[in-house]
Amino acid sequence: KNIMVAIDGYSSCGKSTLAKALAKELHFIYVDSGAMYRAVALYFLRNNIDLKDEHQIKEALNNVHLNFHSRDYQTHITLNDEEVSEEIRLMPVSDMVSAVAALHDVRVEMVRQQQRMGKSKNVVMDGRDIGTVVFPDAQVKFFMTADPKIRAERRYKELLPKNPEISLEDVFENLAHRDYQDTTRAESPLTRADDAIILDNTDLTPEEQLAFAISKVKP
Ligand code: C5P
Repeated sequence: KNIMVAIDGYSSCGKSTLAKALAKELHFIYVDSGAMYRAVALYFLRNNIDLKDEHQIKEALNNVHLNFHSRDYQTHITLNDEEVSEEIRLMPVSDMVSAVAALHDVRVEMVRQQQRMGKSKNVVMDGRDIGTVVFPDAQVKFFMTADPKIRAERRYKELLPKNPEISLEDVFENLAHRDYQDTTRAESPLTRADDAIILDNTDLTPEEQLAFAISKVKP
């Protein structure tokens, strides 16, 4: 049977850093489920979709076609054949993605596509509901946390080269706001699965957290 490693947690906790490193080490496929919600949010933003209009939402979802191309364990995602991997990381998308991800029809469609991707392959998937909703039977589950200030600083350093106008405060606010929306939404809110291993990486280097995770996957 194929193996699934689920990594959930708050925004900018280093989930994707760990997921990529783990996938590389184990020769698994890496799936960034957040990129899918971000690409949908980008489509909604560009097409001015009214988040209160269920008909518009359903129609928009029918017109959204996502594709992953994994190169060197980096996420390359296309939205209707357009490469959007960089644009989905910019602030306009980050600011609205959690509202889009809270919509019932959006979640149903994304979960369906994610479950299909994990059906026959060994996969490391990171997100907010992977161990709880998408793959409740995943063999290994991690729930990641880290000090909010450290998270904001790490993300700020990452974003600055491509977003010279942002401030550390903007980033901190965005993370706090997304975490609030992700943990309080009505549908599959972010929560730790009972059988998920807690990984607080506030004081861990990427190498240390990888070693810890590998010890849990290959006991
Ligand atoms: O992982 P990333 O921060 O790129 O995810 C962007 C947003 O997508 C999250 O803040 C969350 O609102 C949403 N998301 C989700 N469920 C997932 C992955 C991401 O709701 N499995």
